[in-house]
Amino acid sequence: MIIAIDGPAASGKGTVARALAAHYGLPHLDTGLLYRAVGAAALERAVPFEDAQALAGLASVLDVAALDAEALRAGPIGEAASRVAVVPAVREKLLRLQQDFAHQPGGAVLDGRDIGTVIAPDADIKIFVTATPEARAARRHRELRERGEDVSFAEVLADIARRDARDSGRSSAPLIEAQDAVRLDNTALDRDASIARALAIVAARLAGR
Ligand code: C5P
Repeated sequence: MIIAIDGPAASGKGTVARALAAHYGLPHLDTGLLYRAVGAAALERAVPFEDAQALAGLASVLDVAALDAEALRAGPIGEAASRVAVVPAVREKLLRLQQDFAHQPGGAVLDGRDIGTVIAPDADIKIFVTATPEARAARRHRELRERGEDVSFAEVLADIARRDARDSGRSSAPLIEAQDAVRLDNTALDRDASIARALAIVAARLAGR
């Protein structure tokens, strides 16, 4: 069973994906980490975001087993990730490994922006997790403050709006809801309620088979 979870920044799609993976005993890939790793490497080596060839080179030597999720979730890396993610050559380099992960025997859960549309259009279940920009910014703000990052709510909201616009407006694999996705709007839901809704969506889909 392949479960595809897509949605905008800070929508809680990672939380939902991890919970579904644990519940069904499936491996999980947070595909945002791949773009974050390329973005972080670009910042570290001062590779310009306009240099598609050099960025694709960074993507092709990515060591997926060595990704440091905690470090990659730091504030400025999200912005760098969304900048490298508009580069078709970067997406091309990361395509195969995501498709292989999705199609491993037994299935998998992947979360990102283009899982249900590009990586695994054949997924058994597609969920589009979303919430208002303000609700997403409030969550991300709380998360960053808990990590000790000194950032204002207005800055986080602006960052989310910028990333939403870039992710939805790019020509290569933009963030769009797959036609056959079930929408989970968790603006008014807390973490547990959001997970419960996702579990119910999957259970309903499996029962309807
Ligand atoms: O999900 P997360 O916020 O960690 O993703 C970081 C960035 O990586 C996103 O803003 C998006 O630009 C990019 N991304 C993508 N396709 C994916 C996953 C993430 O373009 N499947």
